[in-house]
Amino acid sequence: PSPLDKEQLQGLKAIRDFLKVRTSYDVLPLSFRLIVLDTDLLIKKSLNILTQNAIVSAPLWDSVTSRFAGILTSTDYINVIQYYCQFPDEISKLGQFRLSSLRDIEKAIGAIPIETVSVHPSRPLYEACRRMLKTRARRIPLVDVDDETGRETVISVITQYRILKFIAVNNEHNTVMLKKSVREVHLGSYTNLATVHMNSTVLDAIHMMVDRNISCIPIVDAENRVLNAFEAIDVIPCIKGGAYEELDGTVGEALCKRPDDSPGIYTCGEGDRLDSIFDTIRKSRVHRLIVVDDDNKLKGIISLSDILKYVLLYGEEDGGHRS
Ligand code: ATP
Repeated sequence: PSPLDKEQLQGLKAIRDFLKVRTSYDVLPLSFRLIVLDTDLLIKKSLNILTQNAIVSAPLWDSVTSRFAGILTSTDYINVIQYYCQFPDEISKLGQFRLSSLRDIEKAIGAIPIETVSVHPSRPLYEACRRMLKTRARRIPLVDVDDETGRETVISVITQYRILKFIAVNNEHNTVMLKKSVREVHLGSYTNLATVHMNSTVLDAIHMMVDRNISCIPIVDAENRVLNAFEAIDVIPCIKGGAYEELDGTVGEALCKRPDDSPGIYTCGEGDRLDSIFDTIRKSRVHRLIVVDDDNKLKGIISLSDILKYVLLYGEEDGGHRS
């Protein structure tokens, strides 16, 4: 291997070792809030609560059994939309659905439930990462069990971004060793990219996300130049008022419903090095990077799971095939 390869592997190994000696607790800030929703809450009310608190997901609590009941995410709302598409006559019922109905909605539309895995906060962070990759969960709840009562408590939720940011902030001396470019390590997806246009309908975008099992679709113009990206969380403002017919509206209109402070997209070039990607993660709340050429034309997409997978599995014996 070239000296560059050697240094790259050394950097990756140091980051993996770091993840093995840190726990999920270490990722949590000293003080934080956690909004947990009761499964008895109406789905339509949950939309307002998420928006008012500027969050896009929340752990669920079943107060009948006093147990943690999974995590509410944009996928659940997309399921509700699919339900509406498949059973349009039931639109009147939609307003009465509670969060506890989400599992039934999932079954009715034949969606494969996302496995709810949780980790104990004092387990190594490496374990939480491996679990995330294995289950394709984008966030993992940290669940502790009270020694005396045996009751579960949700401590917090960690996301892929939180983990990558934690790596970026605490490993600057290791991430600088990652000098290979995105192209050289084949980071991300470059073929068969799913895209939409500004005048595509929101429903088209949603169906594409469901079919492809992805959470973001770049919006391009007729020349394939990147204008923006439609994300799974963009469906929340679209259905907030219960106006499901507005899903026939365009992606462009949906973007106007975003909160004023939404960050927009982050792009990079195929020649960019991994260390500069970690710089971006250190400085900004990225959810993914859209790879463009010098003319801003779409080349590829790098999701946080692509980065996490590379950092954890590249060069390992199982070569990432376990994920
Ligand atoms: P997140 O982006 O929220 O971290 P994720 O990592 O699961 O979630 P997805 O967007 O669901 O990301 O991507 C899953 C896989 O699909 C990744 O390997 C990614 O490169 C690829 N991918 C993502 N978006 C697209 C797209 N629009 N077209 C083709 N492939 C995509």
